[in-house]
Amino acid sequence: MPELPEVEALAAFLQEHAVGRTVTRLDLAAVQAIKTFDPPLSSLAGLEVTGATRHGKFLDLDVSGLHLVVHLARAGWLHWREGLPTAPPKPGKGPLALRVHLAGGPGRDGEANGFDLTEQGTRKGLAVYVVRNPAEVPGIARLGPDALELDVEQLGALLAGRHAQLKGTLTDQTVLAGVGNAYSDEILHAARISPFKMADKLTDDELLRLHAALREVLTGALDRQLGQRAATMKGEKRAGLQVHARTGLPCPVCGDTVREVSFADTSLQYCATCQTGGKPLADRRMSKLLR
Ligand SMILES: [Zn+2]
Repeated sequence: MPELPEVEALAAFLQEHAVGRTVTRLDLAAVQAIKTFDPPLSSLAGLEVTGATRHGKFLDLDVSGLHLVVHLARAGWLHWREGLPTAPPKPGKGPLALRVHLAGGPGRDGEANGFDLTEQGTRKGLAVYVVRNPAEVPGIARLGPDALELDVEQLGALLAGRHAQLKGTLTDQTVLAGVGNAYSDEILHAARISPFKMADKLTDDELLRLHAALREVLTGALDRQLGQRAATMKGEKRAGLQVHARTGLPCPVCGDTVREVSFADTSLQYCATCQTGGKPLADRRMSKLLR
């Protein structure tokens, strides 16, 4: 799932490539992706892209005062396309959700480029909104403060009242905006704190480590993403990960085997030596995976 660093890098990419161009056409291929009807999607046609930014994990394209807001969900992505096909895509076929055609811009006469929003898999969650104000998107209105804009005192105040496990707290967008399943694993590993630690039970030292890890992991990932072509960003994310999606592989810090706790529809990865004093966390599937 794209998280703060990926979405921030996509926004930076679009600032460079889409701002100053005019939306000429939008092809909606996945009808369920569009969540708003007023203003209609077609109202963006003919308008210039004037900005690209991010709210948590939401991407926000400012199109002359209207906002095309995108949530990429679990398996969504944005692919920049040089030269888009003029024939409209067949609705409901393949991963394409929305195609945005762009034209013009300084020194770009005659170029017909744009981007595709795609989503792999059968569980469709990618969401597109056209709004006059980004705060009209319910998920944006509910966002907590941005993960990269918190100082250590603010983070401490945020967690102090939360009697819940850190893993779930860090990924709750209403508490903290931008961190998802992958980077929460990475942040907790870098901070050397158990994912099951209660948020309101952090020591001062743990809070300092958590804040430092939050910044380090997110800015490190962002640095790796920036300047990447949108098409290659996903691979870069995986390359920078220490524990997430690395079950059974050695921890790069200590060499212990990365372990996993699985839930109904998700899982977390961690290193017992680095994070839980060497004690494996309870998991019903773990005994099968590791011997
Ligand atoms: Zn380790």
